[in-house]
Amino acid sequence: MIELAVNYRYCVDSFLRIMNKKITINNQEINYRLRRHKRAKRLRLAVYCDARVVVTKPWWVTIKQAENFIVEKADWIIRRINHFKASDNGIKRTKNDYLLNKNKALRLAIEKIEYFNRIYKFSFNKIFIKNQITRWGSCSSRGNLNFNYRIVHLEDGLLDYIIVHELCHLREMNHSKDFWNLVEYTIPDYTERRKKLRTLL
Ligand SMILES: [Zn+2]
Repeated sequence: MIELAVNYRYCVDSFLRIMNKKITINNQEINYRLRRHKRAKRLRLAVYCDARVVVTKPWWVTIKQAENFIVEKADWIIRRINHFKASDNGIKRTKNDYLLNKNKALRLAIEKIEYFNRIYKFSFNKIFIKNQITRWGSCSSRGNLNFNYRIVHLEDGLLDYIIVHELCHLREMNHSKDFWNLVEYTIPDYTERRKKLRTLL
């Protein structure tokens, strides 16, 4: 369902340069700004990342023609708006989730490291919790252990594998046979856990 709602008080095209208007498409109301621009050569439609919709028209294109253009492009406009809204919420959720869980992640990492390092007895420097997209953990050459805050959302067996993997890098800064032997010492089924983890990040 597409319907245009125009505020007729502002419809004196020759006087106004900018009009705020709205259109309802499939029960979704979209506010947009119609601009008349001296140098515009054709109708132009833009959806910005804050979901603002702006239509720019040359002086010789009528409001009616501009409106028809918006109706024609309605599907595209809604797709763009929904795309920007979805990615915006995604970022906020992740950031919020990180702030909520980073202390819990640190406590969890410390607890697990203490447990497994009673066996390995490696020396390390500091433990950091990070908000990363592509990694569960890393080990720096300075002996710092870094973990993704999302370890709080993992089942225990997978978390154990991540902790042991990074701990073993304190001894072997590579993925050699010696490294995997160290991991296998406490996580005999590490290959299965590794495969399962790959599907989660
Ligand atoms: Zn590794």
